[in-house]
Amino acid sequence: MGKRVAVIGGGPAGMIAAATAGSLGKDVVLFEKNNKLGKKMFITGKGRCNITNAGEIEELIENIVANKSFLYSAFYSFSNTDIVELLRQYGVETKIERGNRIFPASDKSSDVIKALERYLSHEKVKVELNKEIKSIEKLNDDNFKIIFSNSSEQYFNKIIIATGGKSYQQTGSTGDGYMFAKSLGHSVTDLRPALVPCEIKEEWVKELQGLSLKNIKIYAYVGSKKIFEDFGELLFTHYGISGPIVLSMSSYINKYYGSKIKVVIDLKPALTNEKLETRLLKDFEKYSKKQFKNSLEDLLPRKLIPIIVRLSNIDEDKFVNQITREERKELVNLLKNLEMSFSDFRPINEAIVTSGGVSTLQIDSSSMESKIVKGLFFAGEVIDVHALTGGYNLQIAYSTGYLAGLNC
Ligand SMILES: Cc1cc2nc3c(=O)[nH]c(=O)nc-3n(C[C@H](O)[C@H](O)[C@H](O)COP(=O)(O)OP(=O)(O)OC[C@H]3O[C@@H](n4cnc5c(N)ncnc54)[C@H](O)[C@@H]3O)c2cc1C
Repeated sequence: MGKRVAVIGGGPAGMIAAATAGSLGKDVVLFEKNNKLGKKMFITGKGRCNITNAGEIEELIENIVANKSFLYSAFYSFSNTDIVELLRQYGVETKIERGNRIFPASDKSSDVIKALERYLSHEKVKVELNKEIKSIEKLNDDNFKIIFSNSSEQYFNKIIIATGGKSYQQTGSTGDGYMFAKSLGHSVTDLRPALVPCEIKEEWVKELQGLSLKNIKIYAYVGSKKIFEDFGELLFTHYGISGPIVLSMSSYINKYYGSKIKVVIDLKPALTNEKLETRLLKDFEKYSKKQFKNSLEDLLPRKLIPIIVRLSNIDEDKFVNQITREERKELVNLLKNLEMSFSDFRPINEAIVTSGGVSTLQIDSSSMESKIVKGLFFAGEVIDVHALTGGYNLQIAYSTGYLAGLNC
């Protein structure tokens, strides 16, 4: 009798793993606890699914935040062009947008899921929905017992764990794979939210709720050590900050979680301190007979003015022509270095991805097989790898899924 393969988890990693194994003539069953496949994939890219990224492989690797080198083999074995070609074969045309982001031409994530379902059916994978695995036991090499939540049992020679991360748990990604990995002797690194908004201590931030700042620079520091820097768009919320650069920041600062993290915004990154001062002088001349609180309209968004006025320590009713050189210099400094204190990440359930996972030291990067348990494989977000936004996280799922399916 041929070897039986069980793939646990019907997300992108599990679907690609199962279909790849099926394409090699293996006897594969894909178990998914939901009543449909790809529930998380359905909500990706705001329902449009940023399938992957059209950059060179080296660029894709650069956008990986944790354990880049672990992914070389996977990305070169099944690349961004491979997934695009595969989807095309199964009826999905794609388009490239800003930042090399690839989307289905139809803008519908459901089309991508349907294509992967056709692929699974073409490769004769048996898909079992509403099947929740509760535990996995290793009997001996290449022999496993799977126990389902209804207590039934099945036996397999190879297992691929593709249960995803721990965020957006309503999609089914409840972190079960971490528990399976641990029970089979693996270490799981600290699990934290990544690509997630951040909470800020200062109360004034709340007053800015809804304000979006484009083309600003953000920095994060632990003590005097700069741990992150980026340029782009930031959004103030009722709890703190969000927006593309904040999501990226969260992925990089989470290894410093527990330390005191200072976030600094440069509101005018295109201007040096000197140029900004010249610009301020011009505005102050124009508004010389106005009060300070009414003099910043040309420079800042309306909502931000009262906050900057308050933080500047310049009397808001002072007439502009009375502002001293010292005060002006301090104002420049404030605009270039608006400081905030990071207090926490939003809860992991609001994170786009989970940072941490099954230790990459215990997985063979060329096959995705466990170095601890023969016949056991991992694929996708359950592994301790994660990337920035731009289609890279889904590419991790396909590439690691492919290797697991190929080698199981
Ligand atoms: C809102 C949002 C938007 C995103 N947008 C993008 C994007 O546009 N581009 C991008 O690259 N990435 C995006 N991501 C990230 C991406 O969705 C994930 O990294 C990716 O889905 C991980 O794939 P996976 O197959 O490893 O896990 P998942 O997609 O999480 O799939 C795991 C599956 O395993 C099943 N499962 C879990 N436990 C069990 C069990 N015990 N028994 C049976 N089945 C089980 C789950 O039900 C689930 O279906 C987004 C994430 C979120 C939350």
